[in-house]
Amino acid sequence: MLTGSTFGIGFSTTIKSLGFQNFTVAHELGHYFIDGHVDALLGSGKHFSRSGFISNDVYEMEADAFASELLMPWSLIESIIKSKAPGFESIKNISERCESSLVASAIRLCQDTKETVAAIVSFNGTVEFMTASESFRSIRGLEWLRRGDALPDGVPSASFAHRQKWINECNISEEGGKLRSWFDGVPDLEIEEDVVGLGSYGRLLTVLVTEWDEDEEDDREPSGEDNWSERWEKGIFRSKK
Ligand SMILES: [Zn+2]
Repeated sequence: MLTGSTFGIGFSTTIKSLGFQNFTVAHELGHYFIDGHVDALLGSGKHFSRSGFISNDVYEMEADAFASELLMPWSLIESIIKSKAPGFESIKNISERCESSLVASAIRLCQDTKETVAAIVSFNGTVEFMTASESFRSIRGLEWLRRGDALPDGVPSASFAHRQKWINECNISEEGGKLRSWFDGVPDLEIEEDVVGLGSYGRLLTVLVTEWDEDEEDDREPSGEDNWSERWEKGIFRSKK
């Protein structure tokens, strides 16, 4: 919000998560610091964000990317990423160390890990978004889940989709399964499926972990270092004029 020359940030406290609130504030700081945002968004003096990686608007995406790097800098998450704890454990560790939400932490993990991990956020059985590590993305035959897709029948996540109390209590379930239950046409790989209730956010976080020998398909060597410049170049940010 801009009043005269004074900027203010308001955030919702309906979602009782410090991580979510931190992310909202960091997102708004992104609007303040990134070139062009103030002019584009505060013409009327007020801007209401839909932060949290669910918007396709370029300004919202840039502010989300800014918030992610601000709250979860490589220096804080490097040891967690390199410890290669499986799936949800790393996400939880990032979330605790950086006081960031589990969803933001899952996205950050997927950007940097060499492990084969995907995270899916769903609401009432419908996918809101999917994110995955580079290794996961390289799985042959993978068809990306899109916003609005239904969770596949029979996967553990689908059985928790409507259990609001279970979700509110932030419960966690860990089960084994097959990647093919999620994606037709992929190789026959075993997966671990961690399902996490996101509390008052009302959504379900699913973390899929598998092993995929990328070298058979692709001989690029993941650096294992912070690849922020690569992320930048991939176009999260518009090119500077
Ligand atoms: Zn915004």
